[in-house]
Amino acid sequence: MSAAPRGHAESGLLDPDEPPAFAIVNARGAGSAILVCDHASNRIPRRLSTLGLAPEQLADHIGWDPGAAEVAQRLSAELDAPLVQSGYSRLVIDCNRPLDNAASIAEQSAGIQVPGNLGLSARARAARVEALFRPYHEAIDRLLDARSDRPSLLLSIHSFTPVLHGEQRPWPVGVSHWRDRRFAALLSKPLARRVDGIVGDNQPYPIEEAVDYTVPVHGEGRGLHAVMIEIRNDGLRETAQIGAWAERLAAAYREIEAEAVSLGRWRVDI
Ligand SMILES: [Zn+2]
Repeated sequence: MSAAPRGHAESGLLDPDEPPAFAIVNARGAGSAILVCDHASNRIPRRLSTLGLAPEQLADHIGWDPGAAEVAQRLSAELDAPLVQSGYSRLVIDCNRPLDNAASIAEQSAGIQVPGNLGLSARARAARVEALFRPYHEAIDRLLDARSDRPSLLLSIHSFTPVLHGEQRPWPVGVSHWRDRRFAALLSKPLARRVDGIVGDNQPYPIEEAVDYTVPVHGEGRGLHAVMIEIRNDGLRETAQIGAWAERLAAAYREIEAEAVSLGRWRVDI
Protein backbone atom coordinates (compact mmCIF):
# COMPACT_ATOMS: atom_id res chain seq x y z
CA MET A 1 0.00 0.00 0.00
CA SER A 2 1.36 3.41 -0.89
CA ALA A 3 1.55 6.28 1.57
CA ALA A 4 -1.12 8.97 1.44
CA PRO A 5 -0.09 11.88 -0.78
CA ARG A 6 1.53 14.78 0.99
CA GLY A 7 -1.07 17.00 2.60
CA HIS A 8 -3.39 14.17 3.56
CA ALA A 9 -1.80 12.81 6.70
CA GLU A 10 -0.34 16.02 8.12
CA SER A 11 -3.41 18.18 8.19
CA GLY A 12 -6.28 15.77 8.65
CA LEU A 13 -8.27 17.80 6.12
CA LEU A 14 -8.28 15.30 3.28
CA ASP A 15 -9.30 11.69 3.63
CA PRO A 16 -6.86 9.18 2.13
CA ASP A 17 -9.23 8.39 -0.75
CA GLU A 18 -9.67 12.02 -1.78
CA PRO A 19 -7.73 13.53 -4.70
CA PRO A 20 -4.45 15.31 -3.97
CA ALA A 21 -4.08 19.08 -3.69
CA PHE A 22 -2.73 19.37 -7.22
CA ALA A 23 -2.39 17.49 -10.47
CA ILE A 24 0.46 17.72 -12.94
CA VAL A 25 -0.25 17.26 -16.62
CA ASN A 26 2.61 16.60 -19.06
CA ALA A 27 5.23 16.84 -16.33
CA ARG A 28 8.05 16.19 -18.79
CA GLY A 29 6.84 18.71 -21.34
CA ALA A 30 9.90 20.10 -23.06
CA GLY A 31 8.50 23.39 -24.38
CA SER A 32 9.48 26.79 -23.02
CA ALA A 33 6.08 27.47 -21.43
CA ILE A 34 5.01 26.44 -17.94
CA LEU A 35 1.30 26.53 -17.23
CA VAL A 36 -0.44 26.87 -13.90
CA CYS A 37 -4.14 26.90 -13.13
CA ASP A 38 -4.83 28.16 -9.60
CA HIS A 39 -8.62 27.89 -9.84
CA ALA A 40 -8.96 24.67 -11.80
CA SER A 41 -11.44 22.85 -9.55
CA ASN A 42 -14.52 23.51 -7.43
CA ARG A 43 -14.09 20.38 -5.32
CA ILE A 44 -14.49 20.78 -1.56
CA PRO A 45 -12.82 18.37 0.89
CA ARG A 46 -15.44 15.97 2.21
CA ARG A 47 -14.87 17.06 5.79
CA LEU A 48 -15.93 20.60 4.91
CA SER A 49 -19.15 19.42 3.23
CA THR A 50 -20.35 22.28 0.97
CA LEU A 51 -19.02 25.17 3.09
CA GLY A 52 -22.72 25.97 3.58
CA LEU A 53 -23.24 26.89 -0.08
CA ALA A 54 -25.74 25.59 -2.63
CA PRO A 55 -24.52 23.43 -5.53
CA GLU A 56 -25.24 26.21 -8.05
CA GLN A 57 -23.12 28.64 -6.03
CA LEU A 58 -20.21 26.21 -5.95
CA ALA A 59 -20.59 25.66 -9.69
CA ASP A 60 -20.41 29.40 -10.39
CA HIS A 61 -17.31 31.58 -10.76
CA ILE A 62 -16.95 32.13 -7.03
CA GLY A 63 -16.04 28.46 -6.61
CA TRP A 64 -13.53 28.16 -9.45
CA ASP A 65 -12.69 29.41 -12.93
CA PRO A 66 -15.10 27.55 -15.23
CA GLY A 67 -13.37 26.33 -18.39
CA ALA A 68 -9.88 27.42 -17.33
CA ALA A 69 -8.53 23.94 -16.60
CA GLU A 70 -9.72 22.61 -19.96
CA VAL A 71 -8.05 25.48 -21.82
CA ALA A 72 -4.87 24.95 -19.82
CA GLN A 73 -4.88 21.18 -20.54
CA ARG A 74 -5.27 21.73 -24.27
CA LEU A 75 -2.63 24.42 -24.24
CA SER A 76 -0.34 22.02 -22.41
CA ALA A 77 -0.68 19.59 -25.31
CA GLU A 78 -0.31 22.30 -27.97
CA LEU A 79 2.86 23.76 -26.46
CA ASP A 80 4.27 20.58 -24.91
CA ALA A 81 4.14 22.48 -21.63
CA PRO A 82 3.92 21.08 -18.12
CA LEU A 83 0.77 22.17 -16.29
CA VAL A 84 0.17 22.29 -12.54
CA GLN A 85 -3.47 22.62 -11.59
CA SER A 86 -5.05 22.95 -8.17
CA GLY A 87 -7.30 20.15 -6.97
CA TYR A 88 -9.74 22.08 -4.76
CA SER A 89 -11.97 25.13 -4.76
CA ARG A 90 -10.58 28.61 -4.22
CA LEU A 91 -13.24 28.98 -1.52
CA VAL A 92 -11.42 26.44 0.67
CA ILE A 93 -8.20 28.41 0.28
CA ASP A 94 -7.34 30.59 -2.70
CA CYS A 95 -4.01 29.46 -4.15
CA ASN A 96 -3.54 32.87 -5.80
CA ARG A 97 -3.82 34.94 -2.62
CA PRO A 98 -1.05 35.66 -0.12
CA LEU A 99 -1.90 33.96 3.15
CA ASP A 100 -2.30 37.31 4.93
CA ASN A 101 -4.84 38.56 2.37
CA ALA A 102 -8.45 38.61 3.64
CA ALA A 103 -9.54 36.70 0.51
CA SER A 104 -7.14 33.82 1.19
CA ILE A 105 -10.01 32.02 2.93
CA ALA A 106 -12.85 34.27 1.83
CA GLU A 107 -15.70 34.95 4.23
CA GLN A 108 -17.63 36.34 1.26
CA SER A 109 -17.14 36.32 -2.49
CA ALA A 110 -18.96 38.55 -5.00
CA GLY A 111 -21.44 39.43 -2.26
CA ILE A 112 -22.16 35.82 -1.26
CA GLN A 113 -21.32 34.86 2.31
CA VAL A 114 -19.40 31.60 2.74
CA PRO A 115 -20.76 30.14 6.01
CA GLY A 116 -18.10 27.45 6.27
CA ASN A 117 -15.37 30.08 6.33
CA LEU A 118 -16.72 32.23 9.15
CA GLY A 119 -14.87 32.44 12.45
CA LEU A 120 -12.24 29.82 11.63
CA SER A 121 -9.69 28.93 14.29
CA ALA A 122 -5.99 29.33 13.59
CA ARG A 123 -5.78 25.56 13.54
CA ALA A 124 -8.51 25.19 10.93
CA ARG A 125 -6.82 27.80 8.76
CA ALA A 126 -3.45 26.10 9.12
CA ALA A 127 -4.99 22.77 8.07
CA ARG A 128 -6.09 24.30 4.76
CA VAL A 129 -2.67 25.83 4.18
CA GLU A 130 -0.89 22.54 4.86
CA ALA A 131 -3.28 20.32 2.95
CA LEU A 132 -3.87 22.46 -0.14
CA PHE A 133 -1.96 25.73 -0.56
CA ARG A 134 1.50 24.51 0.36
CA PRO A 135 1.55 21.27 -1.66
CA TYR A 136 0.28 23.08 -4.76
CA HIS A 137 2.97 25.75 -4.62
CA GLU A 138 5.66 23.25 -3.72
CA ALA A 139 4.73 21.30 -6.84
CA ILE A 140 5.23 24.42 -8.96
CA ASP A 141 8.55 25.07 -7.20
CA ARG A 142 9.78 21.53 -7.83
CA LEU A 143 8.84 21.72 -11.48
CA LEU A 144 10.66 25.02 -11.94
CA ASP A 145 13.68 23.79 -9.95
CA ALA A 146 13.97 20.85 -12.31
CA ARG A 147 14.04 23.20 -15.32
CA SER A 148 16.51 25.71 -14.02
CA ASP A 149 18.92 24.89 -16.87
CA ARG A 150 16.55 26.13 -19.59
CA PRO A 151 14.14 28.97 -20.27
CA SER A 152 10.72 28.92 -18.69
CA LEU A 153 7.94 31.40 -19.37
CA LEU A 154 5.10 31.18 -16.88
CA LEU A 155 1.48 31.46 -17.99
CA SER A 156 -1.15 31.48 -15.27
CA ILE A 157 -4.52 30.57 -16.81
CA HIS A 158 -7.79 31.93 -15.38
CA SER A 159 -11.34 32.73 -16.43
CA PHE A 160 -13.55 35.59 -15.28
CA THR A 161 -17.26 36.30 -15.07
CA PRO A 162 -18.78 38.54 -17.78
CA VAL A 163 -20.65 40.66 -15.20
CA LEU A 164 -19.37 41.61 -11.76
CA HIS A 165 -21.23 43.90 -9.34
CA GLY A 166 -23.60 44.86 -12.18
CA GLU A 167 -20.81 45.89 -14.54
CA GLN A 168 -20.36 44.33 -17.95
CA ARG A 169 -16.77 43.48 -18.74
CA PRO A 170 -15.96 44.08 -22.40
CA TRP A 171 -12.68 42.21 -22.85
CA PRO A 172 -12.95 38.66 -24.25
CA VAL A 173 -9.49 38.05 -22.78
CA GLY A 174 -7.00 39.95 -20.67
CA VAL A 175 -3.25 39.67 -20.27
CA SER A 176 -1.92 40.89 -16.93
CA HIS A 177 1.63 41.52 -15.81
CA TRP A 178 3.35 42.71 -12.73
CA ARG A 179 6.23 45.18 -12.90
CA ASP A 180 8.03 43.89 -15.97
CA ARG A 181 5.47 44.19 -18.76
CA ARG A 182 7.57 43.01 -21.70
CA PHE A 183 6.33 39.42 -21.98
CA ALA A 184 2.70 40.55 -21.65
CA ALA A 185 3.22 43.25 -24.28
CA LEU A 186 4.73 40.73 -26.69
CA LEU A 187 1.97 38.18 -26.22
CA SER A 188 -0.90 40.68 -26.42
CA LYS A 189 -0.14 41.76 -30.00
CA PRO A 190 -0.55 38.45 -31.84
CA LEU A 191 -3.42 37.59 -29.51
CA ALA A 192 -5.24 40.81 -30.45
CA ARG A 193 -5.17 39.80 -34.12
CA ARG A 194 -6.96 36.59 -33.24
CA VAL A 195 -9.61 38.02 -30.93
CA ASP A 196 -12.87 39.77 -31.70
CA GLY A 197 -12.70 42.66 -29.24
CA ILE A 198 -10.11 44.39 -27.11
CA VAL A 199 -7.47 42.41 -25.25
CA GLY A 200 -7.45 43.68 -21.67
CA ASP A 201 -4.14 45.23 -20.65
CA ASN A 202 -3.96 44.40 -16.95
CA GLN A 203 -7.76 44.09 -17.18
CA PRO A 204 -10.02 42.84 -15.70
CA TYR A 205 -7.41 42.38 -12.96
CA PRO A 206 -4.00 43.96 -12.55
CA ILE A 207 -1.41 41.93 -10.68
CA GLU A 208 -0.64 43.29 -7.23
CA GLU A 209 1.76 41.88 -4.71
CA ALA A 210 -0.75 42.19 -1.86
CA VAL A 211 -3.48 40.39 -3.80
CA ASP A 212 -1.75 37.93 -6.14
CA TYR A 213 0.57 35.11 -5.18
CA THR A 214 1.40 32.94 -8.18
CA VAL A 215 2.88 35.43 -10.66
CA PRO A 216 4.84 37.53 -8.13
CA VAL A 217 6.24 34.50 -6.30
CA HIS A 218 6.91 32.01 -9.09
CA GLY A 219 7.59 34.72 -11.68
CA GLU A 220 9.60 37.54 -10.15
CA GLY A 221 10.65 35.38 -7.25
CA ARG A 222 12.68 33.37 -9.76
CA GLY A 223 13.48 36.06 -12.27
CA LEU A 224 11.06 34.47 -14.74
CA HIS A 225 8.77 36.27 -17.13
CA ALA A 226 5.17 35.58 -16.24
CA VAL A 227 1.70 36.61 -17.31
CA MET A 228 -1.78 35.99 -16.04
CA ILE A 229 -4.24 35.19 -18.83
CA GLU A 230 -7.90 35.79 -18.02
CA ILE A 231 -10.53 34.50 -20.45
CA ARG A 232 -14.13 35.68 -20.11
CA ASN A 233 -16.04 32.56 -19.17
CA ASP A 234 -18.99 33.09 -21.55
CA GLY A 235 -16.44 32.19 -24.23
CA LEU A 236 -15.71 28.84 -22.57
CA ARG A 237 -19.13 27.23 -22.40
CA GLU A 238 -18.76 24.84 -25.32
CA THR A 239 -16.00 22.36 -25.99
CA ALA A 240 -15.41 23.96 -29.40
CA GLN A 241 -14.94 27.39 -27.78
CA ILE A 242 -12.44 25.96 -25.33
CA GLY A 243 -10.51 24.39 -28.18
CA ALA A 244 -10.54 27.66 -30.10
CA TRP A 245 -9.11 29.57 -27.14
CA ALA A 246 -6.34 27.04 -26.68
CA GLU A 247 -5.47 27.29 -30.37
CA ARG A 248 -5.47 31.10 -30.33
CA LEU A 249 -3.27 31.24 -27.27
CA ALA A 250 -0.90 28.61 -28.64
CA ALA A 251 -0.58 30.38 -32.00
CA ALA A 252 0.03 33.75 -30.34
CA TYR A 253 2.61 32.21 -28.02
CA ARG A 254 4.48 30.51 -30.87
CA GLU A 255 4.73 33.79 -32.73
CA ILE A 256 6.57 35.53 -29.91
CA GLU A 257 8.23 32.58 -28.21
CA ALA A 258 11.76 33.20 -29.50
CA GLU A 259 11.62 36.89 -28.68
CA ALA A 260 10.16 36.25 -25.24
CA VAL A 261 12.86 33.71 -24.44
CA SER A 262 15.51 36.21 -25.55
CA LEU A 263 14.25 38.75 -23.00
CA GLY A 264 16.36 36.94 -20.45
CA ARG A 265 15.58 37.49 -16.83
CA TRP A 266 12.70 39.45 -15.36
CA ARG A 267 13.65 43.04 -14.55
CA VAL A 268 12.06 45.56 -12.20
CA ASP A 269 13.97 48.59 -13.45
CA ILE A 270 11.86 49.27 -16.55
ZN1 LIG B 1 -8.87 32.66 -11.37
